[in-house]
Amino acid sequence: MRNKVDSLPDESRCSRRDFLKTLSLGAIALRPSSIRAQVGPTKFFSREKTDRSKKIIVIGAGLAGLTAAYELTLAGHDVTVLEARNRAGGRVLTVRDFADDLYAEAGGEWVEHNHDYMHRYVEEFGLGLYRGSFIDTEQETLNFSPRSREPHEKLQSIIKQIKPFEDKNPSRAEYDRLSFYQLLKQINAPAEMISQMQREVSNLMAINIESISALHLLSEFALPESRASFRIAGGNDLVPKSLASRLSEKIHYSRPVLKIEHNAAGVIVTFLENGSQQQLTSERIIIAAPFTCVRHIEFAPALSEQKMKTIRALSYGQILKAPLQFRERFWLKAKGERRRSLTGLIGSVYEATGGQPGPRGLLTAYIPDKSGMEIARLGVDDRLKKILAAVTELHPEAGRYFEGGAVKWWQEDEWAGGTYAYFRPGESVSLRPRIAEPEGRIHFAGEHTASWQGYMNGAIESGHRAAREAQEASS
Ligand SMILES: Cc1cc2nc3c(=O)[nH]c(=O)nc-3n(C[C@H](O)[C@H](O)[C@H](O)COP(=O)(O)OP(=O)(O)OC[C@H]3O[C@@H](n4cnc5c(N)ncnc54)[C@H](O)[C@@H]3O)c2cc1C
Repeated sequence: MRNKVDSLPDESRCSRRDFLKTLSLGAIALRPSSIRAQVGPTKFFSREKTDRSKKIIVIGAGLAGLTAAYELTLAGHDVTVLEARNRAGGRVLTVRDFADDLYAEAGGEWVEHNHDYMHRYVEEFGLGLYRGSFIDTEQETLNFSPRSREPHEKLQSIIKQIKPFEDKNPSRAEYDRLSFYQLLKQINAPAEMISQMQREVSNLMAINIESISALHLLSEFALPESRASFRIAGGNDLVPKSLASRLSEKIHYSRPVLKIEHNAAGVIVTFLENGSQQQLTSERIIIAAPFTCVRHIEFAPALSEQKMKTIRALSYGQILKAPLQFRERFWLKAKGERRRSLTGLIGSVYEATGGQPGPRGLLTAYIPDKSGMEIARLGVDDRLKKILAAVTELHPEAGRYFEGGAVKWWQEDEWAGGTYAYFRPGESVSLRPRIAEPEGRIHFAGEHTASWQGYMNGAIESGHRAAREAQEASS
C-alpha cells in the first residue's frame, strides 16, 4: 500500500496491488519498464448472431457467469443461470446497511485504468467511475535500506528473464518450486526487506510469503502497471446488477447445483429448489463457481484425474473487511498529520466513503491472512470490538465517533470459501494451465481461470473466453 500518507485528496488511490509501485528504491520500481502486458490481448466475445442456438446452463451469477450468460444471450443462445445465493454478484458485494445511504465494498473494490473488460461494461451500462478521496492511515514507509538495493535489483532481473506468463520458459519451474520467502532468502534479502514484503504481499495476495509460489508472485509483478484506480459510483454491485437485470428471468436464484451428469448426448444438472431436487438438461455447461464450491459438486462420470486434482488442490487466500461507521469523518481533520504505523492486526485502514456525502463516514479496516483468521475466531460481537480497538490505536478519536460496522470474512462464506485463488509452491506450473481446460461439454470460468487472475476484470475476461468456447464447440 502507500508509502507516504499525509492527506490524499481527490485523485488519491490505493488498490490492493498498488504496492508494486511503492516497493521501490528511489527510481527503481520492482516492475521493470521493459515488462509489457504478458496477459495477452483483450479479446471480447463477438456477439455476432449465431446460426445455431445452443442450450447452455451457467453455474454461478458472479461476474464470470453473468458475463458468459449475457454475451451468449446477445448472440442468440438459450441460456439458464443457476445461482446458489439469493443475489447476483458473488464476491462483488456492496454493503448498503449504513446510515444516510452510505455504502462500502466488502468484496472486489478497485477497478484499474487498464481493466478493459470491466470498462466496457461500465460504458455500456452508463455507469460512472470515481477515484474518491482516500485516506490511508498506514504510515509505514517502504523505503528500503541500501542493503536492499542489490536483492531488489535481482528480483527485477529475474522478472525480466523468466517472462512469467510464457509457458515454455524452463526457468519458470525453478522459481515455482520456491516460496516467495525462499526466493527472498536465496537473493540475500535483508530481514527488514523480508518483513516489509511479508506485510505487503499479505495485503496484495491475501496470503503470506511462505505459502505462495515465487513464480506466482513474479507473474503478478509482471501484470501491466495501472496508472489509476477507481470504484463504481453508486457501488460496484451496479455492474452485476446491470448484467442480472438484462438476463432477468434467465437467472434462477437460491438454486445450488449438486450434481452434473455428462456424456456425448448432453448434460443433466441436478440442483436444489426449495429443498427438493430438480433437473435441467443442456448441450453445454459453463461452471463459473470457485473451485472451493466446485469440489462439492458430484460429477458423473468423474472428470479426468488431473482436473479433479486441480479442483481439489487450488488454494484461496483470506481477507477480512470491516467497514466501520462514524458519526463524523474525524480523519479529515487530521489532514496533514503523520499517523502512527500500523502494527499487528490491520493491513490497511482507508476511507470507504470518499465521494459520498457526509458528515457521517465509513472507514474500512482491511485485514488479510492470519490476522483475519485471528479475528474470525471470535464471536460476532467481539470481532467488531477487536477491530475497533485496533483502529483506535491508530486514531484515538475513533471510539468517540463509532456508531457500528459490518464484518465480512470470505472464508466462512459457503459460496466463496476464500477471497481469490493463489498458487502454492510448485502449483503455478502444475495447476495453472489445467484450471481453464474444458472437459467434454463442460467449460470453466471464474477469476481463477483468467490471466487477470484474482480481479473482477479476470472474472469478466473468463466469461468472454468460456462463452467463446461454448459457442465454438462442434456440438
Ligand atoms: C475481499 C476481496 C477483495 C477484492 N479486491 C479486489 C479489487 O480490489 N479489485 C478487483 O478487481 N478484484 C478484487 N477482488 C476479486 C474479485 O472480487 C473476484 O475476482 C471476482 O468478483 C470473482 O468473480 P467470479 O465470477 O469469478 O466468482 P464469484 O463472484 O465468486 O461468483 C461465483 C458464483 O457462483 C455461485 N456458486 C458457487 N457454488 C455454486 C453452486 N454449487 N451452485 C450454484 N451457484 C454456485 C456463488 O454463489 C457465486 O455467486 C476481491 C475479492 C475479495 C473477496
